[in-house]
Amino acid sequence: MSEVKLEDIVSLCKRRGFIYQGSEIYGGMAGMYDYGPLGVELLNNLKRAWWKEHVYDRDDFYGLDSAIFKEPKVWDASGHTSGFADPLAECKKCNTRIRVDKELENIGVRADEKMSEQQLQKLFDENRDKLKCPKCGAKDFGPVRMFNLLVKTNMGDFSGDIEAAPVYLPGEACQGIYLNFKNVVDTTPAKIPFGIAQIGKAFRNEISPRNFIFRTREMEQADTQYFVPPHQNKERYEKIKQDRLDWYAKMGIRQENLRLKQHENLVFYAADAWDIEYNYPSLGFDELEGVHDRTDYDLTQHSKFSGTDLSYTDPTSGEKYIPWILETSVGMGRMFLAFISDAYTEDEIGGEKRVVLKLPKHLAPVKVSVSPLLKNKPELVEKAREVYTMLKKEFGTVMWDDNGNIGKRYRRQDEIGTPYCVVIDFETLEGDTKGTVTVRDRDTTEQKRVKITELISRLSGEFALSQD
Ligand SMILES: [Zn+2]
Repeated sequence: MSEVKLEDIVSLCKRRGFIYQGSEIYGGMAGMYDYGPLGVELLNNLKRAWWKEHVYDRDDFYGLDSAIFKEPKVWDASGHTSGFADPLAECKKCNTRIRVDKELENIGVRADEKMSEQQLQKLFDENRDKLKCPKCGAKDFGPVRMFNLLVKTNMGDFSGDIEAAPVYLPGEACQGIYLNFKNVVDTTPAKIPFGIAQIGKAFRNEISPRNFIFRTREMEQADTQYFVPPHQNKERYEKIKQDRLDWYAKMGIRQENLRLKQHENLVFYAADAWDIEYNYPSLGFDELEGVHDRTDYDLTQHSKFSGTDLSYTDPTSGEKYIPWILETSVGMGRMFLAFISDAYTEDEIGGEKRVVLKLPKHLAPVKVSVSPLLKNKPELVEKAREVYTMLKKEFGTVMWDDNGNIGKRYRRQDEIGTPYCVVIDFETLEGDTKGTVTVRDRDTTEQKRVKITELISRLSGEFALSQD
């Protein structure tokens, strides 16, 4: 098998309606992508599996969906208005903006966005002869400056001046969890230790969005925040980190494509931070999910800035404290890219090459396809329609497919990861085999005859939400 490249994934996503460039008919918009009919199914299945792991399979987790717009002081308290910035430099010749830390890394100089402007300027100056503009090739850049990534809006402001009182789009979705910590404690049986899970939108003025859905300006983040008593972070942190890594493996991601990597530079309040990395096609290992030990920073800051006491009183011991927080955070786009890349397989069946998405069955965007063997035989079409309607009622995402010969239909379904193809043929209508259909398996390509009356029970076990 040849090595899978990112362009193979991009091409499949576009060709089969998983992901389109945002605003494509207007020439496209940088860093924006739209999920098509198959993409939204895979995305929703991933969200459902993630939600099940945290909210349904646990009794110490609560779900949340907080508003996108938040009181602007939230972003002062979180540190985003002052510290949420990437270093950029502008090419003096063509005005292309580059992200300084990434360009330095590309030439083998260790740098990251958490360094100060002065530190980065120094590294930049030391390496000027090696850094050239990715667009025009010039080696003439202006000074390094930190560019704040928060996106501003005029929500609720009618002055006409967006700078007067900007309301920000969330730079990260998790802030909504901190704002509702007290609400959840006051209105549910939640007792520390417990967690809150949320899938929410975030927006960043990325200087150079790139690598398809890996780095975008609009994203969806699946976050958990786990609240623990002070200094009870270490042991739980190790377990959460391991659980998250294990989840990907349990969900079918190949072990060799996953690894843990500790952050070299920590933000000042963090006790520890690790990334679960995935080996993306063409990009290599890079961040998939972050696992962060955030101490008491978040609730302390919001207590201070809001004037609301966010401390917690232990109902048994009566001890009062600001809870410490252990966070997990994954961009749904990155999760999508990891799963579709890991499933993408090129193999050969009977001398014929095929592309097959070997997604776990419960994640597949289409569960079953239904075909009449021949589309010009009304008796076959009628029976096939009957089976199609029955299965669609049960599984939702069932595809009618009567285009081209059977071999072509199988290839088409393989490419989008459909686990089973059901074919209604003449044997369905008469003889000993009356009332049976052919069920063809995506991975083994084996075909079995199954009674129509047993189809739902035979298939539904295969699509159970969890693998275990
Ligand atoms: Zn240039």
